Amino acid sequence: MNVPFLNLKAQHAPLKDELLNAIEEVIETSAFAGGPFVSRFEEDFAKFCGVEHAIGVGSGTDALWLALLGLGIGPGDEVITVPMTFIATAEAISRTGATPVFVDIDEATYTLDPSGLELALTPRTKAIIPVHLFGQVADMGPILTFANRHGLIVIEDAAQAHGALYQGARAGSLARAGCFSFYPGKNLGAFGEAGAVTTHDEKLAREMRVFRDHGQSQKYQHSVVGWNCRMDGIQGAVLRLKLRDLDRNNAKRREVARQYSNAFSGMPHLALPFSHSRGLPVHHHYAVRVPNRREFMKGLHEKGVATAIHYPVPVHLQPAYAHLRLGVGSFPISERCADEFVSLPIYPELTELQINTVIEAVTKTLVAVLAA
Ligand SMILES: *Cc1c(COP(=O)(O)O)cnc(C)c1O
Repeated sequence: MNVPFLNLKAQHAPLKDELLNAIEEVIETSAFAGGPFVSRFEEDFAKFCGVEHAIGVGSGTDALWLALLGLGIGPGDEVITVPMTFIATAEAISRTGATPVFVDIDEATYTLDPSGLELALTPRTKAIIPVHLFGQVADMGPILTFANRHGLIVIEDAAQAHGALYQGARAGSLARAGCFSFYPGKNLGAFGEAGAVTTHDEKLAREMRVFRDHGQSQKYQHSVVGWNCRMDGIQGAVLRLKLRDLDRNNAKRREVARQYSNAFSGMPHLALPFSHSRGLPVHHHYAVRVPNRREFMKGLHEKGVATAIHYPVPVHLQPAYAHLRLGVGSFPISERCADEFVSLPIYPELTELQINTVIEAVTKTLVAVLAA
Protein backbone atom coordinates (compact mmCIF):
# COMPACT_ATOMS: atom_id res chain seq x y z
CA MET A 1 0.00 0.00 0.00
CA ASN A 2 1.54 3.30 -1.13
CA VAL A 3 0.58 6.55 0.50
CA PRO A 4 1.61 9.55 -1.63
CA PHE A 5 2.17 12.86 0.14
CA LEU A 6 -0.62 14.50 -1.85
CA ASN A 7 -3.24 13.17 -4.27
CA LEU A 8 -4.82 15.93 -6.35
CA LYS A 9 -6.00 13.44 -8.96
CA ALA A 10 -8.20 11.74 -6.37
CA GLN A 11 -9.46 15.14 -5.23
CA HIS A 12 -10.56 16.15 -8.73
CA ALA A 13 -11.83 12.81 -10.08
CA PRO A 14 -15.35 13.04 -8.55
CA LEU A 15 -15.64 16.69 -9.68
CA LYS A 16 -14.30 16.22 -13.19
CA ASP A 17 -17.52 16.81 -15.15
CA GLU A 18 -18.45 19.87 -13.13
CA LEU A 19 -14.92 21.26 -13.38
CA LEU A 20 -14.86 20.80 -17.16
CA ASN A 21 -18.27 22.50 -17.45
CA ALA A 22 -17.04 25.42 -15.36
CA ILE A 23 -13.95 25.80 -17.53
CA GLU A 24 -16.02 25.51 -20.70
CA GLU A 25 -18.20 28.38 -19.50
CA VAL A 26 -15.09 30.54 -19.18
CA ILE A 27 -13.99 29.56 -22.69
CA GLU A 28 -17.46 30.34 -24.10
CA THR A 29 -17.42 33.85 -22.65
CA SER A 30 -13.65 34.44 -23.11
CA ALA A 31 -13.47 36.02 -19.64
CA PHE A 32 -9.91 34.87 -19.01
CA ALA A 33 -8.26 37.69 -17.04
CA GLY A 34 -10.24 38.95 -14.07
CA GLY A 35 -13.91 39.38 -15.01
CA PRO A 36 -17.19 37.84 -13.84
CA PHE A 37 -15.90 34.40 -12.82
CA VAL A 38 -13.37 36.04 -10.51
CA SER A 39 -16.00 38.44 -9.09
CA ARG A 40 -18.39 35.60 -8.34
CA PHE A 41 -15.68 33.66 -6.53
CA GLU A 42 -14.70 36.82 -4.62
CA GLU A 43 -18.28 37.25 -3.41
CA ASP A 44 -18.54 33.64 -2.28
CA PHE A 45 -15.13 33.60 -0.64
CA ALA A 46 -15.80 36.86 1.23
CA LYS A 47 -19.03 35.40 2.56
CA PHE A 48 -17.26 32.16 3.51
CA CYS A 49 -14.61 34.08 5.48
CA GLY A 50 -17.12 36.44 7.09
CA VAL A 51 -15.69 39.63 5.57
CA GLU A 52 -17.07 42.35 3.33
CA HIS A 53 -14.48 42.03 0.57
CA ALA A 54 -12.24 39.47 -1.10
CA ILE A 55 -9.82 40.54 -3.83
CA GLY A 56 -8.63 37.80 -6.17
CA VAL A 57 -4.97 38.02 -7.17
CA GLY A 58 -2.29 36.00 -8.92
CA SER A 59 -0.85 34.13 -5.91
CA GLY A 60 -0.58 34.10 -2.15
CA THR A 61 2.68 36.00 -2.45
CA ASP A 62 0.86 38.72 -4.45
CA ALA A 63 -1.81 38.81 -1.76
CA LEU A 64 0.75 39.51 0.99
CA TRP A 65 2.58 42.11 -1.09
CA LEU A 66 -0.63 43.87 -2.14
CA ALA A 67 -1.98 44.00 1.42
CA LEU A 68 1.29 45.45 2.72
CA LEU A 69 1.41 48.07 -0.06
CA GLY A 70 -2.27 48.90 0.38
CA LEU A 71 -1.71 49.50 4.07
CA GLY A 72 1.18 51.86 3.36
CA ILE A 73 4.14 49.68 4.33
CA GLY A 74 7.36 50.72 2.56
CA PRO A 75 11.06 51.54 2.83
CA GLY A 76 12.30 52.21 6.35
CA ASP A 77 9.46 50.27 7.97
CA GLU A 78 9.82 47.08 9.97
CA VAL A 79 7.29 44.26 9.86
CA ILE A 80 7.29 41.54 12.50
CA THR A 81 6.74 37.93 11.45
CA VAL A 82 8.04 34.44 12.27
CA PRO A 83 11.11 32.67 10.84
CA MET A 84 9.26 29.34 10.70
CA THR A 85 7.17 29.99 7.59
CA PHE A 86 7.34 29.68 3.83
CA ILE A 87 9.77 32.27 2.46
CA ALA A 88 6.94 34.23 0.76
CA THR A 89 5.90 35.92 4.02
CA ALA A 90 9.32 37.54 4.35
CA GLU A 91 9.73 38.10 0.59
CA ALA A 92 6.55 40.17 0.43
CA ILE A 93 7.80 42.36 3.29
CA SER A 94 11.19 42.80 1.60
CA ARG A 95 9.62 43.61 -1.79
CA THR A 96 7.84 46.63 -0.32
CA GLY A 97 11.24 47.95 0.79
CA ALA A 98 10.49 47.19 4.45
CA THR A 99 12.56 44.87 6.67
CA PRO A 100 11.27 41.64 8.22
CA VAL A 101 11.91 41.39 11.97
CA PHE A 102 11.47 37.92 13.41
CA VAL A 103 9.80 36.68 16.58
CA ASP A 104 10.17 33.01 17.45
CA ILE A 105 7.25 30.58 17.41
CA ASP A 106 5.54 29.03 20.39
CA GLU A 107 6.82 25.51 21.01
CA ALA A 108 3.34 23.97 21.29
CA THR A 109 1.34 25.67 18.53
CA TYR A 110 4.21 26.53 16.13
CA THR A 111 2.71 29.99 15.61
CA LEU A 112 3.98 33.45 16.64
CA ASP A 113 4.69 33.61 20.36
CA PRO A 114 3.07 36.88 21.52
CA SER A 115 5.49 37.11 24.47
CA GLY A 116 8.29 37.82 21.97
CA LEU A 117 6.68 40.93 20.50
CA GLU A 118 7.87 43.44 23.10
CA LEU A 119 11.52 42.72 22.39
CA ALA A 120 11.06 43.01 18.60
CA LEU A 121 9.31 46.39 18.81
CA THR A 122 11.20 49.47 17.59
CA PRO A 123 10.09 52.99 16.56
CA ARG A 124 10.10 51.68 12.95
CA THR A 125 7.70 48.78 13.58
CA LYS A 126 4.57 49.25 11.45
CA ALA A 127 2.91 45.85 11.19
CA ILE A 128 2.76 42.25 12.38
CA ILE A 129 2.12 39.24 10.13
CA PRO A 130 1.22 36.17 12.20
CA VAL A 131 1.32 32.97 10.12
CA HIS A 132 -1.40 30.37 10.71
CA LEU A 133 1.10 27.57 10.23
CA PHE A 134 -0.20 24.09 9.31
CA GLY A 135 -3.80 25.37 9.43
CA GLN A 136 -3.98 26.56 13.03
CA VAL A 137 -4.80 30.22 13.64
CA ALA A 138 -2.09 32.00 15.64
CA ASP A 139 -3.06 33.29 19.09
CA MET A 140 -4.64 36.46 17.70
CA GLY A 141 -6.07 37.77 21.00
CA PRO A 142 -2.78 38.88 22.59
CA ILE A 143 -1.30 39.80 19.18
CA LEU A 144 -4.18 42.18 18.42
CA THR A 145 -4.04 43.65 21.94
CA PHE A 146 -0.32 44.33 21.54
CA ALA A 147 -0.88 45.82 18.08
CA ASN A 148 -3.65 48.11 19.30
CA ARG A 149 -1.56 49.31 22.19
CA HIS A 150 1.29 50.27 19.85
CA GLY A 151 -0.69 51.42 16.80
CA LEU A 152 0.44 48.53 14.60
CA ILE A 153 -1.36 46.97 11.63
CA VAL A 154 -2.00 43.21 11.72
CA ILE A 155 -2.15 41.15 8.51
CA GLU A 156 -2.93 37.42 8.70
CA ASP A 157 -0.91 35.02 6.57
CA ALA A 158 -3.79 32.57 6.15
CA ALA A 159 -2.24 30.74 3.18
CA GLN A 160 -2.49 27.43 5.10
CA ALA A 161 -5.71 28.11 6.99
CA HIS A 162 -8.72 28.43 4.65
CA GLY A 163 -11.76 27.92 6.86
CA ALA A 164 -9.93 27.65 10.19
CA LEU A 165 -11.64 29.28 13.18
CA TYR A 166 -10.41 31.37 16.10
CA GLN A 167 -12.97 32.09 18.81
CA GLY A 168 -15.70 31.34 16.30
CA ALA A 169 -14.41 33.66 13.54
CA ARG A 170 -12.78 32.54 10.31
CA ALA A 171 -9.11 32.98 9.46
CA GLY A 172 -8.89 36.06 7.26
CA SER A 173 -11.56 37.96 9.19
CA LEU A 174 -9.57 38.62 12.36
CA ALA A 175 -7.36 41.57 11.38
CA ARG A 176 -7.02 44.41 8.84
CA ALA A 177 -6.35 41.97 6.01
CA GLY A 178 -6.08 38.21 5.47
CA CYS A 179 -3.88 36.72 2.76
CA PHE A 180 -4.70 33.42 1.10
CA SER A 181 -2.90 31.19 -1.40
CA PHE A 182 -4.75 28.86 -3.73
CA TYR A 183 -1.62 27.05 -4.84
CA PRO A 184 -2.79 23.59 -5.98
CA GLY A 185 -1.71 21.74 -2.82
CA LYS A 186 -3.36 24.16 -0.36
CA ASN A 187 -6.64 23.27 1.40
CA LEU A 188 -8.41 25.19 -1.36
CA GLY A 189 -6.35 24.77 -4.52
CA ALA A 190 -6.64 26.26 -8.01
CA PHE A 191 -5.58 24.77 -11.37
CA GLY A 192 -2.42 26.86 -11.27
CA GLU A 193 -1.45 29.96 -9.33
CA ALA A 194 -3.97 32.12 -7.48
CA GLY A 195 -4.48 34.01 -4.22
CA ALA A 196 -6.79 36.47 -2.46
CA VAL A 197 -6.83 39.22 0.15
CA THR A 198 -9.80 39.44 2.51
CA THR A 199 -10.74 42.58 4.42
CA HIS A 200 -13.59 44.41 6.15
CA ASP A 201 -12.07 47.70 4.95
CA GLU A 202 -13.91 49.17 1.95
CA LYS A 203 -11.25 51.75 1.09
CA LEU A 204 -8.41 49.23 1.26
CA ALA A 205 -10.41 46.83 -0.93
CA ARG A 206 -10.97 49.53 -3.56
CA GLU A 207 -7.31 50.51 -3.60
CA MET A 208 -6.15 46.92 -3.93
CA ARG A 209 -8.56 46.34 -6.85
CA VAL A 210 -7.13 49.35 -8.64
CA PHE A 211 -3.53 48.37 -7.89
CA ARG A 212 -3.85 44.75 -9.08
CA ASP A 213 -5.12 46.03 -12.44
CA HIS A 214 -2.28 48.40 -13.45
CA GLY A 215 -3.52 51.14 -11.15
CA GLN A 216 -6.56 51.77 -13.35
CA SER A 217 -10.02 52.52 -12.01
CA GLN A 218 -11.31 52.89 -15.59
CA LYS A 219 -9.75 51.49 -18.73
CA TYR A 220 -6.54 53.39 -19.60
CA GLN A 221 -7.06 55.82 -16.70
CA HIS A 222 -4.13 55.01 -14.41
CA SER A 223 -4.45 56.86 -11.13
CA VAL A 224 -1.49 55.14 -9.41
CA VAL A 225 1.53 53.12 -10.54
CA GLY A 226 0.12 49.64 -10.04
CA TRP A 227 0.97 46.18 -11.24
CA ASN A 228 -0.64 43.22 -12.99
CA CYS A 229 -1.63 40.71 -10.34
CA ARG A 230 -5.15 39.78 -11.42
CA MET A 231 -6.63 36.33 -10.91
CA ASP A 232 -7.40 34.25 -14.03
CA GLY A 233 -11.03 33.63 -14.95
CA ILE A 234 -10.46 29.87 -15.07
CA GLN A 235 -9.04 29.92 -11.53
CA GLY A 236 -12.07 31.90 -10.31
CA ALA A 237 -14.47 29.37 -11.86
CA VAL A 238 -12.56 26.34 -10.51
CA LEU A 239 -12.16 27.83 -7.02
CA ARG A 240 -15.82 28.78 -6.77
CA LEU A 241 -16.79 25.19 -7.49
CA LYS A 242 -14.23 23.72 -5.09
CA LEU A 243 -15.14 26.16 -2.29
CA ARG A 244 -18.43 24.28 -1.95
CA ASP A 245 -16.57 21.24 -0.53
CA LEU A 246 -14.02 23.10 1.62
CA ASP A 247 -15.73 22.77 5.01
CA ARG A 248 -16.44 19.08 4.43
CA ASN A 249 -12.87 18.45 3.31
CA ASN A 250 -11.46 20.33 6.31
CA ALA A 251 -13.60 18.17 8.60
CA LYS A 252 -12.11 15.06 6.94
CA ARG A 253 -8.61 16.42 7.55
CA ARG A 254 -9.51 16.87 11.24
CA GLU A 255 -10.75 13.30 11.35
CA VAL A 256 -7.47 12.00 9.91
CA ALA A 257 -5.53 14.14 12.41
CA ARG A 258 -7.66 12.75 15.25
CA GLN A 259 -6.92 9.18 14.18
CA TYR A 260 -3.19 9.87 13.89
CA SER A 261 -3.02 11.63 17.26
CA ASN A 262 -5.00 8.88 19.01
CA ALA A 263 -2.71 6.22 17.59
CA PHE A 264 0.52 8.11 18.34
CA SER A 265 -0.28 9.54 21.77
CA GLY A 266 2.12 8.30 24.41
CA MET A 267 4.76 7.18 21.92
CA PRO A 268 8.20 8.15 23.18
CA HIS A 269 10.27 10.78 21.31
CA LEU A 270 7.40 11.78 19.07
CA ALA A 271 5.98 15.29 19.52
CA LEU A 272 2.46 15.60 18.11
CA PRO A 273 0.59 18.65 16.81
CA PHE A 274 -1.14 20.55 19.61
CA SER A 275 -4.46 22.28 18.91
CA HIS A 276 -5.24 25.15 21.29
CA SER A 277 -8.80 25.36 22.60
CA ARG A 278 -9.48 28.84 21.20
CA GLY A 279 -9.88 27.65 17.65
CA LEU A 280 -10.57 24.93 15.15
CA PRO A 281 -7.61 24.01 12.92
CA VAL A 282 -7.81 22.77 9.33
CA HIS A 283 -4.61 20.67 9.33
CA HIS A 284 -2.97 21.82 6.11
CA HIS A 285 -0.04 19.73 7.32
CA TYR A 286 0.30 17.19 10.11
CA ALA A 287 3.85 17.69 11.36
CA VAL A 288 5.39 15.51 14.06
CA ARG A 289 8.81 16.06 15.61
CA VAL A 290 11.36 13.27 15.90
CA PRO A 291 14.97 13.42 17.07
CA ASN A 292 16.51 11.26 14.30
CA ARG A 293 14.60 12.47 11.33
CA ARG A 294 16.67 11.01 8.52
CA GLU A 295 16.24 7.40 9.68
CA PHE A 296 12.60 8.00 10.51
CA MET A 297 11.84 9.35 7.02
CA LYS A 298 13.85 6.54 5.43
CA GLY A 299 11.87 3.92 7.40
CA LEU A 300 8.57 5.43 6.30
CA HIS A 301 9.73 5.67 2.71
CA GLU A 302 10.63 1.96 2.74
CA LYS A 303 7.09 1.20 3.92
CA GLY A 304 5.58 3.20 1.06
CA VAL A 305 4.70 6.30 3.08
CA ALA A 306 5.80 9.61 1.55
CA THR A 307 6.80 12.45 3.88
CA ALA A 308 7.99 16.05 3.54
CA ILE A 309 9.62 18.75 5.66
CA HIS A 310 7.95 22.11 6.31
CA TYR A 311 10.39 23.80 6.58
CA PRO A 312 13.95 22.50 6.75
CA VAL A 313 15.62 25.93 6.99
CA PRO A 314 14.06 28.82 8.91
CA VAL A 315 13.90 32.08 6.96
CA HIS A 316 16.57 33.88 9.03
CA LEU A 317 19.12 31.18 8.11
CA GLN A 318 18.38 31.29 4.37
CA PRO A 319 21.20 32.74 2.23
CA ALA A 320 18.67 35.25 0.88
CA TYR A 321 18.48 36.79 4.37
CA ALA A 322 22.15 36.55 5.29
CA HIS A 323 22.27 40.38 5.16
CA LEU A 324 20.14 40.48 8.33
CA ARG A 325 23.07 38.84 10.15
CA LEU A 326 20.86 36.61 12.29
CA GLY A 327 22.98 33.55 12.93
CA VAL A 328 22.31 30.12 14.37
CA GLY A 329 20.84 30.44 17.86
CA SER A 330 18.80 33.58 17.09
CA PHE A 331 15.46 31.74 17.16
CA PRO A 332 16.05 28.41 18.93
CA ILE A 333 12.53 26.99 18.72
CA SER A 334 12.20 27.60 14.98
CA GLU A 335 15.68 26.15 14.48
CA ARG A 336 14.94 23.02 16.53
CA CYS A 337 11.65 22.52 14.69
CA ALA A 338 13.42 22.92 11.33
CA ASP A 339 15.71 20.05 12.40
CA GLU A 340 12.94 17.81 13.74
CA PHE A 341 9.75 18.41 11.74
CA VAL A 342 8.36 15.64 9.52
CA SER A 343 5.03 16.13 7.74
CA LEU A 344 2.90 13.01 7.29
CA PRO A 345 0.36 12.65 4.46
CA ILE A 346 -2.91 14.38 5.37
CA TYR A 347 -5.69 15.09 2.88
CA PRO A 348 -9.42 14.34 2.64
CA GLU A 349 -8.97 11.61 0.02
CA LEU A 350 -6.89 9.32 2.27
CA THR A 351 -8.60 5.92 2.57
CA GLU A 352 -8.99 4.04 5.86
CA LEU A 353 -6.42 1.58 4.55
CA GLN A 354 -3.94 4.36 3.82
CA ILE A 355 -4.49 5.96 7.22
CA ASN A 356 -3.80 2.62 8.89
CA THR A 357 -0.74 2.13 6.69
CA VAL A 358 0.67 5.45 7.91
CA ILE A 359 -0.09 4.62 11.54
CA GLU A 360 1.53 1.21 11.32
CA ALA A 361 4.57 2.54 9.43
CA VAL A 362 5.14 5.31 11.97
CA THR A 363 4.77 2.93 14.92
CA LYS A 364 7.12 0.28 13.51
CA THR A 365 9.68 2.78 12.27
CA LEU A 366 9.82 4.60 15.56
CA VAL A 367 10.42 1.35 17.47
CA ALA A 368 13.22 0.39 15.03
CA VAL A 369 14.82 3.86 15.10
CA LEU A 370 14.76 4.02 18.89
CA ALA A 371 16.26 0.52 19.21
CA ALA A 372 19.13 1.38 16.84
C1 LIG B 1 1.84 28.93 0.17
C2 LIG B 1 2.21 29.99 1.12
C3 LIG B 1 2.44 31.33 0.72
C4 LIG B 1 2.58 31.74 -0.72
O1 LIG B 1 1.55 31.43 -1.56
P1 LIG B 1 1.79 31.27 -3.12
O2 LIG B 1 0.40 31.16 -3.66
O3 LIG B 1 2.60 30.05 -3.35
O4 LIG B 1 2.47 32.51 -3.62
C5 LIG B 1 2.64 32.28 1.70
N1 LIG B 1 2.67 31.96 3.01
C6 LIG B 1 2.50 30.70 3.43
C7 LIG B 1 2.53 30.41 4.90
C8 LIG B 1 2.28 29.67 2.50
O5 LIG B 1 2.13 28.41 2.94
